[in-house]
Amino acid sequence: MTRSISILGATGSIGASTLDLLRRNRGAWKVVALTANSRVAELAALAREFDADIAVVADERHLPQLREALSGTGIATAGGAAALCEASARPVDMTVAAIVGCAGLAPVMAAVARGGTIALANKEALVSAGDILMSAVERHKATVLPTDSEHNAIFQCLSGNRFVDIRSITLTASGGPFRAWSQDQLATATREQALRHPNWDMGAKITIDSATMMNKGLEFIEAYHLFPVELDQLRILVHPQSVVHSMVEYRDGSTLAQLGPSDMRVPIANCLAWPERMETPMASLDLAAIGELSFFAPDEERFPATRLAREAAQSGGAAPAVLNAANEAAVAAFLAGKIAFSHITVVVERTLQRSIPRGPTSLEEVLEIDANARVWANELMEHV
Ligand code: NDP
Repeated sequence: MTRSISILGATGSIGASTLDLLRRNRGAWKVVALTANSRVAELAALAREFDADIAVVADERHLPQLREALSGTGIATAGGAAALCEASARPVDMTVAAIVGCAGLAPVMAAVARGGTIALANKEALVSAGDILMSAVERHKATVLPTDSEHNAIFQCLSGNRFVDIRSITLTASGGPFRAWSQDQLATATREQALRHPNWDMGAKITIDSATMMNKGLEFIEAYHLFPVELDQLRILVHPQSVVHSMVEYRDGSTLAQLGPSDMRVPIANCLAWPERMETPMASLDLAAIGELSFFAPDEERFPATRLAREAAQSGGAAPAVLNAANEAAVAAFLAGKIAFSHITVVVERTLQRSIPRGPTSLEEVLEIDANARVWANELMEHV
């Protein structure tokens, strides 16, 4: 049976992994919408290859180029924020939410409002608007399938168990390229060094987040919204081999873990086939060759990001949205060579020290908080 699918953020790393799986199962999927921000040539090529119904660029300035690239194909084109949400709201069996950053929030909300099934990789949407997003999921009877590898692992470890029996959930973290670096070394870390992740091949923003450990901080908040646990039931454990993707401990003392290769096609395939399983090109995990799995407590002196995220989650209200926005602004500035690596979390911490607004109650309020926090973070960056 052919199922329909839209991929938001089709030109990115998660988009590429998803499309690779679709390519291997040609007859199984009908592609409806593919979206990007500005990379028109890549988007047009994918839209042609998968014979999409519509291709959308979020940055409207690129629409004429997209129209030209797809003229004569019969593939519809559109541009801008409203068009992105309209495309996300088209009825499909599955929406893969793989836009990076809070920019993905409104399109995810549009897919949720339609009551769809959403494979959610876009963690920033959940961090910025966790309560609003999850209550919309409930109201519209939508389904969210956790696609982030750790959350997908937890999702799998929860299957067949009662939530009341959960004692704790542990998110594993590779520790990133600077796991063993001293504070002094971290102060000198370059863009190129930070972009060289030891285990995962991902987009630039999440790769920097992995190097600062903010990725794990965002995932901590993401887990809090996705799973029925309190903040004090969530733990973080550094596991450099990235083989154990996360664990759930039950009250009888049993801990269930999900293991697999460090390749996002595994959790994406789990979402695409859910509640069944599908073939992937992954080789079997060779634990004898890996030999050793090691685990360490996180060091929040050198990597304060997980503490900042935990504190933001404990404060609640708008704090997680401010944390996320300040981090997005700081990572963009680091990637542009404007601030040092170790200043990323300094900017986030100082932004969070501003007077944080009340908790948002609507998408519009979240977007306003996000925009204001970016302005504050950019102001602070001039003085770090
Ligand atoms: P990439 O940077 O590789 O891709 C991002 C995608 O979003 C691209 O299609 C990009 O379009 C699009 N995009 C960027 N900015 C905007 C915008 N303002 N409006 C609309 N679309 C936009 O990111 P990743 O694939 O690495 O990550 C995507 C999401 O998945 C993130 O939230 C990340 O945290 C999460 N994730 C990623 C993992 C990974 O392995 N990569 C693992 C787990 C989670 P364009 O190409 O035109 O710029």
